[in-house]
Amino acid sequence: MRLKTIKKLCCPLDKQDLTLQIIAQDLDENILEGMLTCSQCQRKYPIIHGVPIMSPDEYRQTALEQPVIDRWENALSNAQTHLLNH
Ligand SMILES: [Zn+2]
Repeated sequence: MRLKTIKKLCCPLDKQDLTLQIIAQDLDENILEGMLTCSQCQRKYPIIHGVPIMSPDEYRQTALEQPVIDRWENALSNAQTHLLNH
């Protein structure tokens, strides 16, 4: 998903701004992997294969997300955090 499009996203729960950590992007500023974090409720929405996972809690598949997030652990601790203001 393009960075421009991601900047328009907000937390689906409380509509607050998100912060973005970029793990992988291509030359066209498409974010392939990254982590969105809500500034309000601190929920985390991973971007996996270019798709932000922003389903409500009851539809989240933590078992599928967690291995990816574990793999990102190092990258996330080194990644810059971008605040996405609207
Ligand atoms: Zn939130």
